[in-house]
Amino acid sequence: MALIELRDVAKTYPPRRRGGDPVRAVDGVTLDVNEGEILGVVGYSGAGKSTLARLINALEPVTRGTVTVAGQELTRMSEGELQKVRRGIGMIFQQFNLFHSRTVWGNIAYPLKVAGVPTSQHQARISELLHFVGLADKAHSYPEQLSGGQKQRVGIARALAASPKILLADEATSALDPETTQDVVDLLRRVNRELGVTIVVITHEMEVVKNLAHRVVVMENGTVVESGSTFDVFADP
Ligand code: ADP
Ligand code: ADP
Repeated sequence: MALIELRDVAKTYPPRRRGGDPVRAVDGVTLDVNEGEILGVVGYSGAGKSTLARLINALEPVTRGTVTVAGQELTRMSEGELQKVRRGIGMIFQQFNLFHSRTVWGNIAYPLKVAGVPTSQHQARISELLHFVGLADKAHSYPEQLSGGQKQRVGIARALAASPKILLADEATSALDPETTQDVVDLLRRVNRELGVTIVVITHEMEVVKNLAHRVVVMENGTVVESGSTFDVFADP
């Protein structure tokens, strides 16, 4: 059984204005994410990628179909159980979504607090994470004092703090220059190899997926139009 299973999943949003048409953001997606892999989800803006991420992360209910994470079907869960699933999935974003009023340390401590990790264990865990992402000297900096690449490293450390099995990266390198993008790609590869975290990389940047993903799914208008190994999908026709 795959770690994440989507079966004929659809998500329709109500019309944006009165009398408008409902928006079929995701329209019948079936896919598996296997434990230990890096899956790339690529497609142009509006293809439904972010909606797919929010369905996997149980931030939105599906309109149709089923999402199963680690053998548990989300539609059958109580809100309390869904919160547990969400805590088992780390997320990183294009705009990093850090808390500006908190230091790097405070940002990484936040998910530990939410997960109920005793404060006595925070020091060791946060130090370990800061070393892993190469920011051991930035614990007391505020996000505004960091470069974009450093901010995303904090985002990754925060996403990993509560030891999730899954990391969802939603356009995580889209605000970064090519060199910094490569650094973050290398870091995500280490997250996968050294920590065994399964990663779903959502992006419109084909190069990122080409460099990082084992397998690729191509989305268009809410559907999967192509899928396969990265090598096959990007091979010249
Ligand atoms: P992508 O991440 O690939 O750019 P999205 O999942 O953000 O795609 O969007 C897919 C479609 O759903 C787009 O047409 C978008 O305008 C629409 N959409 C996304 N979120 C909402 C929402 N909350 N309400 C209405 N329509 C939405
Ligand atoms: P915030 O601004 O979100 O409160 P802080 O960085 O001020 O975040 O610190 C949050 C908690 O972590 C505080 O209790 C602080 O004393 C502790 N802390 C911060 N940095 C360190 C550190 N390097 N070693 C040990 N404890 C720290």
